[in-house]
Amino acid sequence: MSEVLVIAETTAAGVRKPTLELLTAARALGEPAAVVFGEASDAVVAQLGEYGATKVYAVNAAEVGDYLSLPKAEAVVQIAGTANPVAILVTSGPEGKDVAARVAVRLNSGIVPDATVVALDGGNVVATQTVFAGRWQARSQIVRGPAVITMRPNATSAEAAAASPSVETVDVAVSEAAKGAKITSREPKVSTGRPELTDAAVVVAGGRGVGSEEGFAVIGQTADALGAAVGASRTVTDQHWAPHELQVGQTGKTVAPSLYLAAGISGAIQHRAGMQSSKTIVVVNKDPKAPLFQLADFGVVGDLHKVLPALIDEVGKRKG
Ligand SMILES: Cc1cc2nc3c(=O)[nH]c(=O)nc-3n(C[C@H](O)[C@H](O)[C@H](O)COP(=O)(O)OP(=O)(O)OC[C@H]3O[C@@H](n4cnc5c(N)ncnc54)[C@H](O)[C@@H]3O)c2cc1C
Repeated sequence: MSEVLVIAETTAAGVRKPTLELLTAARALGEPAAVVFGEASDAVVAQLGEYGATKVYAVNAAEVGDYLSLPKAEAVVQIAGTANPVAILVTSGPEGKDVAARVAVRLNSGIVPDATVVALDGGNVVATQTVFAGRWQARSQIVRGPAVITMRPNATSAEAAAASPSVETVDVAVSEAAKGAKITSREPKVSTGRPELTDAAVVVAGGRGVGSEEGFAVIGQTADALGAAVGASRTVTDQHWAPHELQVGQTGKTVAPSLYLAAGISGAIQHRAGMQSSKTIVVVNKDPKAPLFQLADFGVVGDLHKVLPALIDEVGKRKG
């Protein structure tokens, strides 16, 4: 069976959930082989194996951390040259897409960005994308390979399938051309203590109905009561009531948590595109005709500034 290269993203806490989703999706195409930049610790290798990686390529080149995406692209191209994979899967995101595009150009491969499903059809890789704000599904067959595909986080759920990966250290000689832009400093983002929006099991999102930046605070308080991440509509982020990284939707992040609580969000198609795959959707809106109620499993018609504080109180009481 052919290998499927999965570009792994790791943090100090281990392998990121979107990578575990890629490993799950990769199993439909062949044998998942993870590419790890930097040291592949025993814990990282074990976690990759738990989700089906039969091989781990540990890229040994200091430069991958010192420069932007080019050294990573060169490393992936080098590995693909010997592994001859049927596909290369990357998480959709600014860096992932940058690496994927460069890899596809260098390998003369077909590329599909923002896929939600991958499958094999008559020996060719087929990728499905959700387009036009979720109204259409496009299926593309990649006829020149290895197929390079970036996959949206949360499009598939990560399922364990134990394997015992072998680890191969790959020495990569990074070209001078790839060293054009050096990272000179890094500043860790100040942690909110809340889960990452795209990884969270529960998301509480607020829209224009919060009324103001001060009014948005109740969204954070509700999220904290539920151990949730905070999301926002584009109206809110455009008004600077919340940072852009919290925007959910077509031009923001895609989430698919177990519970999505939307307060003061009308339900424009562009917002729905980023959250409609959530398992349970709860809507709080003072307008009973708000379109988002059509997607809701549970709805409350009312003023969010009354409903959410009552919810926080109730959660507090039940937590005891
Ligand atoms: C190309 C393009 C891309 C876009 N991408 C995105 C995207 O990624 N994400 C996104 O979100 N939008 C996106 N938009 C914008 C989108 O079309 C909507 O304008 C936006 O989602 C509306 O945000 P909203 O629901 O917060 O505001 P509104 O549509 O104004 O809705 C506010 C809602 O709050 C309710 N409300 C008011 N006061 C209260 C209260 N006190 N209590 C309870 N409810 C109350 C109202 O009844 C109303 O339903 C995009 C638009 C375009 C053209």
